[in-house]
Amino acid sequence: MSNTDQARAGRWRWLSGGRQRRQEEVILMMLCALSIPSILPFGVYRLMQGSWASAAVDLALVTGMMAVIVHVWRTGRYQVASLGVTIFYSAGMLVTVYLRGVSLVYWVYPTMIAAYFVLRPVVALGINSAGLLILVVILVARLELLNLMTIVVTIALVNFFAYIFAYRTGLQNKELHTAVELDFLTGVGNRRAMERKLSEYAQERRPHLESSLLLLDLDHFKQINDQYGHAAGDKVLIRLAELMRGHTRSSDRIFRYGGEEFAILASGAGLSAAARLAEGIRAAVASATLLEGHPITISIGVTDMDKELTPAEWLAQADKLLYAAKQGGRNAVRVAEQTS
Ligand code: GH3
Ligand code: MG
Ligand code: MG
Repeated sequence: MSNTDQARAGRWRWLSGGRQRRQEEVILMMLCALSIPSILPFGVYRLMQGSWASAAVDLALVTGMMAVIVHVWRTGRYQVASLGVTIFYSAGMLVTVYLRGVSLVYWVYPTMIAAYFVLRPVVALGINSAGLLILVVILVARLELLNLMTIVVTIALVNFFAYIFAYRTGLQNKELHTAVELDFLTGVGNRRAMERKLSEYAQERRPHLESSLLLLDLDHFKQINDQYGHAAGDKVLIRLAELMRGHTRSSDRIFRYGGEEFAILASGAGLSAAARLAEGIRAAVASATLLEGHPITISIGVTDMDKELTPAEWLAQADKLLYAAKQGGRNAVRVAEQTS
């Protein structure tokens, strides 16, 4: 991490109260925080004017927003709060238009756009469409048809554009996320993906789900590069990844975590199932032709992912077993001892 990156990460951590926060949490809290100075002056002004109902709506919105900020800050739970804030806000805005007339309709636009920042696009669109319908009911007797039509069409357009924008951004985020976790050469997950997956697994609340971790390393790979060139070495890595895909289930995850080192997270597989999987892959590699004219073998260390241990400890244990397989002459599988 560069110094600037570190400074940025530090600021982010400060903003998040010392723990890693999701972007959605921060956006929700920021929107709520922004709404307080936007609404509070109007509430105070109406209080001074004696418009009790309008003042009450404004002050209820401000209090609600403060409560949401505290809740999200303390618990980190933002999904229900996002939905609640959007519905609460939309209702407040509709009541304001109902009480104070059409001149307050300008508030509808930023409120509806804000929904796309905190909710899934389709949910935001649904809530805003319902809001628009209620708005029409409120305004239909008070406005000429042309004025009403202008309001409806402009609100619909704002929603249409916001929806497209939010949908497209969501899609790009997803693509970016996938690309960032993919190994460019072999198409399997990279080290970042492996670390995320392992820590996700460590945090899962399913202690009885057995899974195992396999670490695979090509034997004497340096020799292959030296003898046949780097491009031939790359081809071996690609073919090995294909072979592993063919031998694993779709629920298993394959990662390339180093130059010629791979890992397989065998989901739902206890030690003996994982040992069979490892032996199957080892034998398949030994009998396949990954490189014409040169036999290729791999060594594998297999450990169970004991929930008492950390991801770093699983890796260290599998690495120790892999090392033992190398020491034992390579082209071998070493499996952890069954603890229970
Ligand atoms: P061992 O059996 O003990 O594992 O021996 P080794 O030669 O495989 O081990 P070593 O770690 O000494 O060598 C790994 C080699 O992998 C060195 C490096 O040139 C090669 N390598 C790492 N990444 C890539 C890659 O992306 N493409 C190619 N072609 N080679 C790579
Ligand atoms: Mg090697
Ligand atoms: Mg190696």
